[in-house]
Amino acid sequence: MPPSYTPGKTKYVVVVGTVMSGLGKGIFSSSLARILQDKGLSVAPIKLEGYLNRDSGTLNPYRHGEVFVLDDGMECDMDLGTYERMLNQNLTRMNFTTSGQIFSHVLEKERKGEYLGRDVQMIPHVTGEVKYRLRELAVESKADVVFVEIGGTAGDVENAYYLEAVRELAFEEGPNSCCFVALTYVVEPPALGEQKSKPAQLNIKQLMAAGIMPHIIACRASNPVTRTVLEKLAMYSNVPIERVFSMHDVECVYVIPESLREARIDETVLKTLGLECHADTETEVASREAWASYLQRFRAADSSITIGITGKYTSLRDSYASIIQALEHAGTHHGVKVKIVWIDSTQLDDRNIASRLTGVDGVIIPGGFGVRGVDGKISCVKYVRENGIPYLGLCYGFQIAVMEYARNVCGLGGASSTEIDASTSHPVIDILPEQRDLEDFGGNMRLGGHDIALTPDTLVSQLYDSAPTVRLRFRHRYEVAPQYVRQLEDAGLSFAGRSPDQRIMQILELPREAHPYFVATQAHAELTSRPLHPEPMFLGLIQAAQISARKA
Ligand code: GLN
Repeated sequence: MPPSYTPGKTKYVVVVGTVMSGLGKGIFSSSLARILQDKGLSVAPIKLEGYLNRDSGTLNPYRHGEVFVLDDGMECDMDLGTYERMLNQNLTRMNFTTSGQIFSHVLEKERKGEYLGRDVQMIPHVTGEVKYRLRELAVESKADVVFVEIGGTAGDVENAYYLEAVRELAFEEGPNSCCFVALTYVVEPPALGEQKSKPAQLNIKQLMAAGIMPHIIACRASNPVTRTVLEKLAMYSNVPIERVFSMHDVECVYVIPESLREARIDETVLKTLGLECHADTETEVASREAWASYLQRFRAADSSITIGITGKYTSLRDSYASIIQALEHAGTHHGVKVKIVWIDSTQLDDRNIASRLTGVDGVIIPGGFGVRGVDGKISCVKYVRENGIPYLGLCYGFQIAVMEYARNVCGLGGASSTEIDASTSHPVIDILPEQRDLEDFGGNMRLGGHDIALTPDTLVSQLYDSAPTVRLRFRHRYEVAPQYVRQLEDAGLSFAGRSPDQRIMQILELPREAHPYFVATQAHAELTSRPLHPEPMFLGLIQAAQISARKA
């Protein structure tokens, strides 16, 4: 146990998935965490990933969803983004662990001789390392409740030792210290036309075989789960029916905390953990009001605008989860619904771009890596720049905007990024000096939160209420090559945000006389948008898109 840890002081809620992954476990866990936070309790979430990668940085977003970057530079699972948005709280690397981290730490300790001649085993050493991490988070965060979300589903080989670790934790911490929640799935095969609970029953039994008796069962389903099915599940898993509830699909994820309250899940958790007398009703009322106003605006939005997103991973919404969220936040703030159309950049060229952008009121080019689809993206930027279509470039979308401007306005034919063409005659985007000699592939980009100094009297500075600096998150290897900055600016592109030492260009814009809204940033501005605090550059895009939609 970490020094200064007091057993039994911190409470734990553990969320385990059953039946299948992809049920929105992160959304569910973060909503549950929020209803406790709303009551004035401090919460610290932690996601335990089963995979052996040390972080999510080398994972393909197409397979695993977007890579979310924390302020301290940790590259992690997209669920951490859900927690940050739901809890309006910045997280750190302590809130994210993978099997890769756990095992490499155990192996390092073994080499240092810290196991004193013992054979190093899954139990107690690896499970001990997991428990140590959870308790360390409890000490460091001083949270009342630590929220543990276990990746994967019960029965997976790779998370079995996590289940064992939390079972041991509950035993060691004593009664009323851990609340186990099983998230499950109720199937409704179209051929049958009715809901079936068998897969859920069987997999919950597997959880019980691992020594974990759930206190609460949350059932994901397309339609509200019927009483009969809830009763069956209650009966087969020893969980009273009041603690088995339906969590069917909803229009907006921020509705879930309220529906958990309606199902009185908050009371059940407090009771299980013996925290009833710690709830602060005043804080709860204020927080519920703030969120109710968000939901009211979300529902009241009666017009809509269309934003086109060009990218490589257009077939999987998870790859751009934070952008979709940031658009929703900004749209809700301006009272419009944002429809998204995905534009495959590999299919775009100067000839078809006009028809592909028909009906689109604004365009985003998101982050990306490598050569594929770049020419299409450049055609897209050229078209939106010349035709006054609102544009927001994010990371790669910023670099693409610089390349396009260099080629088509500064007359630097073939201007490119050395990521795309190492021998380009005009390397307007080039590798960051500190990235030049790195050999490893993972965890070494320019990562995490960095301050950006804003140039006064620019459009962007106005968006941020004339704040001298803002802090956004980054994940890149390349930058605008400093020797081209002057030429680009002389040709009309304005770098409205730079690193405080002025070395790295971080935000660009075209002045309002030249374009209704042409803004791009080297940062991943989408990562720090929160429902109640929408990201200003997204707000700017939505507002400009609304104006352009009205004109059309
Ligand atoms: N590929 C670019 C770079 O590494 C942009 C990265 C990104 O969009 N995340 O700098």
